[in-house]
Amino acid sequence: MLHHTNYGEADRFLRLLTAERGKISALARGVRRMNSRKAGHLEPFTLISAQLSKGHGSEWIVDQVSTMEAFPSMTEVLSRTIQGSYVTELADRFTVEEIENRQLFRLTLETIRRIARMDDSFPAIRFFDLRLLDLTGYRPQLQQCVVCGKSLEPVNQYFSSIFGGIVCPSCSGSQTFLRTISVRTLKFLRYYQNHNFPDAAAAGWPQDIRKEGEDILTQYIASMLERKINSQEFLSHVRDESI
Ligand SMILES: [Zn+2]
Repeated sequence: MLHHTNYGEADRFLRLLTAERGKISALARGVRRMNSRKAGHLEPFTLISAQLSKGHGSEWIVDQVSTMEAFPSMTEVLSRTIQGSYVTELADRFTVEEIENRQLFRLTLETIRRIARMDDSFPAIRFFDLRLLDLTGYRPQLQQCVVCGKSLEPVNQYFSSIFGGIVCPSCSGSQTFLRTISVRTLKFLRYYQNHNFPDAAAAGWPQDIRKEGEDILTQYIASMLERKINSQEFLSHVRDESI
């Protein structure tokens, strides 16, 4: 369940991420009535089993629904709600309706489980960013310079969202829209890109270079989407206010 919008007096349009059919939009009738039996099962960040049928206008209608796994901590703690929204919004924006993508479904579900469970979900979210880019064909090139193709020296480099990877210092003069990336941040990005989640979580991510890593990934993702990620902007707002 990605998100929902109210429709008419008592209905609700749902955006569902499914294992079998990718992203689906479906109409849940009457769920906003007090006595609706479906209502409790149709909250964001919930793993549900749903039976759908085609309506007259060929839209999907939710006939039956039951909860398979709920994550109450996702809605009880604001920071988790924001992090979960970031994940589901990206899963939503990077998928096409009715095209199967089981790996993305699994990644999204696993990331929600990690955010719900872990006190520090930063590694889980950066791992999600990098895997999402892999699964959608936007894996950034972090091993060699995207301009000259040479292997990178262990010095600070540049990142280009336009080229989708690292630009070495000797090529940086001829390029625009570059941002610097420290050797340490590059090392963590590479490690997360090439390891499974238990390894990435064990490595952690040092506090002093978290912002750099997050900025590079979210700016690259945003430029891939060619628009701002709403919940990411919201996340920055909340953080600014809490300092
Ligand atoms: Zn180069």
